[in-house]
Amino acid sequence: MARVYNFSAGPAMLPVEVLKEAQEEMLDYRGTGMSVMEMSHRGKVYDGIIKEAEADLRDVLSIPDNYKVLFLQGGASQQFAAVPMNLTKNGKAAYILTGQWAKKAFQEAKLFTDAVEVASSADRTFSYIPDCSDLDIPKDADYVYICENNTIYGTKYWTLPNTKGHELVSDVSSCFLSEPMDVTKYGVVYGGVQKNIGPAGVVISIIREDLIRDDVLPGTPTMLKWKTQADNDSLYNTPPTYGIYICGKVFKWIKDMGGLEVMKARNEKKAALLYDYLDNSKLFRGTVEKKDRSLMNVPFVIGDKDLEARFVTEAEEKGLTSLKGHRTVGGMRASIYNAMPYEGVQALVDFMEDFERSVR
Ligand SMILES: *Cc1c(COP(=O)(O)O)cnc(C)c1O
Repeated sequence: MARVYNFSAGPAMLPVEVLKEAQEEMLDYRGTGMSVMEMSHRGKVYDGIIKEAEADLRDVLSIPDNYKVLFLQGGASQQFAAVPMNLTKNGKAAYILTGQWAKKAFQEAKLFTDAVEVASSADRTFSYIPDCSDLDIPKDADYVYICENNTIYGTKYWTLPNTKGHELVSDVSSCFLSEPMDVTKYGVVYGGVQKNIGPAGVVISIIREDLIRDDVLPGTPTMLKWKTQADNDSLYNTPPTYGIYICGKVFKWIKDMGGLEVMKARNEKKAALLYDYLDNSKLFRGTVEKKDRSLMNVPFVIGDKDLEARFVTEAEEKGLTSLKGHRTVGGMRASIYNAMPYEGVQALVDFMEDFERSVR
């Protein structure tokens, strides 16, 4: 078996322990004589799986009782529409634009509400997080929206914006469960799981109960109404059953590892290894302002397209895959989510050193 170190931004690596357990349970889930894929979502066994997944997630993230946890479909991209549809009251919302995903959410929101841009880092290719301590937020804004970790550009909010009393909505797709987070600071936190938690096809939304309402934007489809999903414990229709089952295993894996403080320490150690190398390299350089660097996504460049292409190809041959940068940034990007072991980042840095030596 030849497992590679996969630096893909998502879908991304999953813990090998989780994959093995799933493999063992594939044909006969704990004496049921069937795979989890084959069982009714209304049955007793599956009910246990989804309830346990939610309980473990609540435990790992310390989610307060007055927040609902929803396991949904449609990816993070569908929540771009669900957020304004469910939260619009005054018909106004404030968006902070820190990259492609924030921009996409902003464009989508404009279909349903008067979304206004209150800050942006577009002037320097989204290589930093703007100062959000004193923004000009419309008084009647229903919420302030951020993309907390910018998967493509490799920036992260280390301080949340001063929302001046407005609800904060955050897309945490690419930093979900990478470190502890204080859920009470948010009205809504959501993320697609394929970056850091599980297989594509599940999006988890954590929503304070008073924001789950009946009086949503008129015309909101039943399926996009959070209340529909909340009233039915994410079982209004058939949920992505197998994906949720794998997410549940990852929650247990995080607990077994020691929880989110341990995840954070591991992630800091991995990121420091790579950033320290980048800061001292004469060939490679990171593209992000140091204070805003993500622990999860690390973009870097050489500044020579041919050399960058050669680097990506040679890395691939060494079992270091999916290092090509996003088409809008160029260069390279290493995504080093929870499941990427320290050894993987060490192997990358070793290869970068060899490569640097070979071209100088
Ligand atoms: C990947 C990603 C998305 C899009 O997720 P889908 O599940 O493909 O819709 C949205 N936001 C962020 C921050 C992402 O990293």
